[in-house]
Amino acid sequence: MSELNLKHIKKIYPNGYEAVQDFNLDIKDGEFVIFVGPSGCGKSTTLRMVAGLEEITSGDLVIDGKRVNDLDPKDRDIAMVFQSYALYPHMTVRENMEFPLKIAKLPKDEINARVAEAAKTLGLESLLDRKPKALSGGQRQRVAMGRAIVRHPKVLLMDEPLSNLDAKLRGQMRVEISRLHEKLGSTIIYVTHDQTEAMTLGDRIVVMSNGEVQQIDTPNNLYKYPVNKFVAGFIGSPQMNFMDATITEKEDKVYLTLGNDHILLPAAKAARLKQKGYTDGQVVTLGIRPENLSDQPEDLEKAKDALASGKVEVYEMLGSTCNLYVNCNGVQITAAVDPSTTARVGDTIQLAFNTEYIQIFDKETENNILVDVDPTTGQLVFNA
Ligand code: ADP
Repeated sequence: MSELNLKHIKKIYPNGYEAVQDFNLDIKDGEFVIFVGPSGCGKSTTLRMVAGLEEITSGDLVIDGKRVNDLDPKDRDIAMVFQSYALYPHMTVRENMEFPLKIAKLPKDEINARVAEAAKTLGLESLLDRKPKALSGGQRQRVAMGRAIVRHPKVLLMDEPLSNLDAKLRGQMRVEISRLHEKLGSTIIYVTHDQTEAMTLGDRIVVMSNGEVQQIDTPNNLYKYPVNKFVAGFIGSPQMNFMDATITEKEDKVYLTLGNDHILLPAAKAARLKQKGYTDGQVVTLGIRPENLSDQPEDLEKAKDALASGKVEVYEMLGSTCNLYVNCNGVQITAAVDPSTTARVGDTIQLAFNTEYIQIFDKETENNILVDVDPTTGQLVFNA
């Protein structure tokens, strides 16, 4: 059992800087939670408060029903893996993994059993007698994880553990960490600035910006129902396209107008705009992901009421998909289209909007007009 509750957690550093504002999160036993956001948004500070390495200014940190704000790091039953592996260079892999257990004064038999188990889990059995300098970056990171899991901690914390590795190795280690989580079933909190890592690893993701939690949800919900323009732009690659659009009401229909192009909104989205008091002539921000734009003839045929035209400025063939950078009414938008596209640089083309996936943001607040989340839990409560 290892449940965590972060209740109104706040961090003000001694110099007065407010690094974390009112962080609320309930983490279930065995859950894999990711903190993601740009550098400096307060991810590590929050993680370090959970570990006990940083004092909590106010709020409650509860582990398995017990408030642990004032407990020493060593008494919290938490292990942490950092970006720098911090292995002891003069010790072998085995000695590095034994070290925390010796400090904890476990019996020799128990130490041997736990190191053997961790080595097997992480595929380190043939490397146990090597020193860290004779290991690759990925192997060193596995040893660092081994040193954390031998303690059988209630909670495993990871702070950008893969950011020293090259792209290929990062991909492999991501898969290994997922497997490790499956095997151990332990509660994990993982910090990263990389949205791909967050999307692929997490059961739930906490998106942060400027010390504030923006949204907490599953990867799928964050992708589909971002609460504001920040989350919409941060999650997903290539990034969501944003453009100014004017609300145009015609008879009982509502369009978003982009220059000379008019995009018909699905009824639910139109109704929500009205319900929220947005009316004819008002300017909003339309958001559409590159993968929800298409230049395939059958899609253009189907989406007669949702077309925009523009000139192709860059053509990027990626094999499984093709990115077209298209100038639509003075805004450069990215369309991730089928690689069979015949469009090339200089062509004027039409793009079909998959209007089910359109998001609409208020220009001032940048909040998503189509989505509501619970202000305390950050959980999705409505989407149109
Ligand atoms: P992240 O992990 O998201 O990159 P951090 O949690 O490390 O961000 O930092 C959050 C903010 O707090 C940053 O603006 C950082 O400069 C500031 N900060 C971190 N440590 C201290 C400190 N000891 N004193 C004052 N400000 C700090």
